[in-house]
Amino acid sequence: MSSSNLVIVYHRQPYEEVIENGKITYKENKSPNGIVPTLKSFFGRFESGAWVAWKEAEDPSNPDFERVVEIEDTFGKYSVSRLPLTKEQVSSFYHVSSKEAFWPILHGFKERYNYDPVDWPTFREVNWAFAEAAAAEAAEGAVVWIHDYNLWLVPGYLRQLRPDVKISFFHHTPFPGADIFNVLPWRLEILQSLLAADVVGFHIPRYVNNFVSAARSLLEVDVTERVKVKPEMLSQATALSEQSVPTEISFEGRKVALQASPVGVDVDYIERIAATPETEKRTAEIREGLGDAKLALSVGRTDYTKGGIEQLETFERMLDNRPDLRGKVQLMHVSVPANRNMTVYEEIQENLEATTGRINGRFGSLDWQPVTLVSRAVPFQDLVAYYRACDVAWITPLADGMNLVAKEFCAARTDGDGVLVLSEFAGAAVEMGSAVLTNPFSHRSMDSAIAQALEMQEDDRRGRMKALREIVAKHDVRNWAEEQMSAMKGVDVWHSDPE
Ligand code: UDP
Repeated sequence: MSSSNLVIVYHRQPYEEVIENGKITYKENKSPNGIVPTLKSFFGRFESGAWVAWKEAEDPSNPDFERVVEIEDTFGKYSVSRLPLTKEQVSSFYHVSSKEAFWPILHGFKERYNYDPVDWPTFREVNWAFAEAAAAEAAEGAVVWIHDYNLWLVPGYLRQLRPDVKISFFHHTPFPGADIFNVLPWRLEILQSLLAADVVGFHIPRYVNNFVSAARSLLEVDVTERVKVKPEMLSQATALSEQSVPTEISFEGRKVALQASPVGVDVDYIERIAATPETEKRTAEIREGLGDAKLALSVGRTDYTKGGIEQLETFERMLDNRPDLRGKVQLMHVSVPANRNMTVYEEIQENLEATTGRINGRFGSLDWQPVTLVSRAVPFQDLVAYYRACDVAWITPLADGMNLVAKEFCAARTDGDGVLVLSEFAGAAVEMGSAVLTNPFSHRSMDSAIAQALEMQEDDRRGRMKALREIVAKHDVRNWAEEQMSAMKGVDVWHSDPE
């Protein structure tokens, strides 16, 4: 039955499936991380909601497969449509097309792009299935909110199936410039699909401009409006923020609103965790264990985009060049494997382990281990304790759509101290100009940034952290939700004024 006023189309299911006594139960994912809880909170703003995701099925035609699951949690009641995908479809759609071909291009790593194994018909087929499921759920005039590059073709298909619905698409990754995006042989089909949406959103102005440049290079589009970027989105310290941003693009007589809206973190929630006695106790224990040594903390997924190896090498260079720092600084490198069984990620893991081993072997002593490599997810409360205990959060991805860790770190520092070293190539750098910004492709820049952070005087640290906390609070997750809502509401106007 088509009855939902809001349909969220996101490839992951919005809960954890737990098997208890041989029975599957659906547990709310309590973790504050990631985008899922934020998206679910939108259900409270609409009369009725649905979510569309995939689930691996041994036999998709099995009539016992539970296609629709009704969920009731703190976010209200909603249904989850689960597309049964075979193992082969998941591998082709997700691991091969999305992770081996699109992911490197989106992040600017042309040399890692693997074209040959991509099976485009399967990618189309899976996207079509998502569009059909969304079309089946959406009430007349509903908002259908589609997320991320693995569902690139859904807006176009959905427009064919349901011309009446309002389609909003949000990109969670970077969007590269035309020269890189156009490496994808399916570029035209992808862009035409995205331009069938009513709203296309990105984190930062640079990605909007890149999207427009790609569209201009392949299609006859009109960019009708440009506005000045908000001052807080114009980081003074980096040349990588942009002065103006287009707000609308027209293609074949249709107007598509463009949006630069950086996703934020739940500052209240993080501050509450930071204030609990358990977190305080854990923070004190970590600090005690350090003695006089300083702690640099690095947190990310195990992915070449996160620049883990480059960072460990910077740490090694520092210990080589600065004997005075040996024994005085420790690096906690949390790198969480996300895509197991993919050679590229297994190689990175091996390299992280080898580099850590080399550094510890070269410089470690009986009472000092320079690097602790943690290759599993740290529970969020422990992570907050580490955010609070560390001297420097060292976040240096080579490319990153946003980077929430940088924002969580600042939200957790209610004590007003701590230094953030942040890559210019994280989307977050556009707002977080008070961090020590660094270019992870330059040894000199990386070396001086970590040295500056470790030596920074308290006044400077507190001044920067104050500015960072203000911006993180201003652009928190609620602000993002409001911006998304107002963009979707605006869609009504365009529908009532057809060309
Ligand atoms: N995270 C976590 N435990 C870990 C490492 C990371 O809970 O051991 C969470 C972290 O708090 C953050 C998310 O994982 O919310 C990573 O988000 P980010 O935007 O930094 O990177 P992404 O993985 O989405 O590229």
